[in-house]
Amino acid sequence: MKECIFCKIVAGEIPSDKVYEDAHVLAFKDITPLAPQHILVIPKIHCASVKDSKCTPEVFSQISQAVQKITSQENIEEFRLVTNAGEQGGQTVFHLHFHILAGRQMRSMG
Ligand code: 5GP
Ligand code: ZN
Repeated sequence: MKECIFCKIVAGEIPSDKVYEDAHVLAFKDITPLAPQHILVIPKIHCASVKDSKCTPEVFSQISQAVQKITSQENIEEFRLVTNAGEQGGQTVFHLHFHILAGRQMRSMG
């Protein structure tokens, strides 16, 4: 998608601190980390959020497999995995992404 920041990162048009890449998934460090380790995991195809039917079960499967690899690779044993959907849900970039947050005690989600 032309104006999507994360599509631009996938295309290499915007630089990112890459952590992991395979045929379907890219992971890179969040530009504004909320934890000592804050990694964003995204599909290479554009789909907006878990509400978007273009984000198929196949996409979620690819992401969950990547999360297992990334956390092993980065020696992350315990972590929070979050995805926001829609503005009220706190989503600011409308390309599906999962936050891996690790390296500190997580607070309640409330
Ligand atoms: P959301 O609020 O949509 O769940 O998360 C979007 C995340 O993307 C935020 O944590 C924000 O810091 C991160 N982000 C926004 N623009 C960029 C960027 O250009 N590069 C990187 N690495 N992260 C970004
Ligand atoms: Zn996109």
